Amino acid sequence: MSFFKKLVKSVRGSAEKVARDPHGIYLHVRCTRCGAPLRVRADRRHDLQRDYDTGTYILHKEMMDGVCFSLIHATLRLDARHHIVDREITGGEFITADVYQALIAPAEINEAKVPE
Ligand SMILES: [Zn+2]
Repeated sequence: MSFFKKLVKSVRGSAEKVARDPHGIYLHVRCTRCGAPLRVRADRRHDLQRDYDTGTYILHKEMMDGVCFSLIHATLRLDARHHIVDREITGGEFITADVYQALIAPAEINEAKVPE
C-alpha cells in the first residue's frame, strides 16, 4: 500500500512527467480567498465535452485548495486542436505555470536554508 502511495506521489509530483503527458491539460489557479496556488490536471480524452454547434470543446473543472478549502470552478473553451480560446473562473484566478512555480518554490527554499 505504501508503495502505491509513493508511486502516486511521484507521478503527481514529477515535473518531467508533466512535460511528457500528452493527454494532460494543466490548470494553474490561485484561490481568491487565501491566495493558495494549486495545479490540477484535466485529461483530453475524458474531461472535454464536445460542443457540436461550434466544433469546440468545453472543459469544466472543480477544484478545492488545501488551505481554506474554498471551491473553485473553472470553465475553459478549447478549439478543435485543444488550444484554449476562452476561460472563466469563479473563486480564484488563473496564473501561469511560472507563477505557480514561483509561489510554491520560495517556501521550500527558505525551509531548507533555515540556519540552526
Ligand atoms: Zn483558499
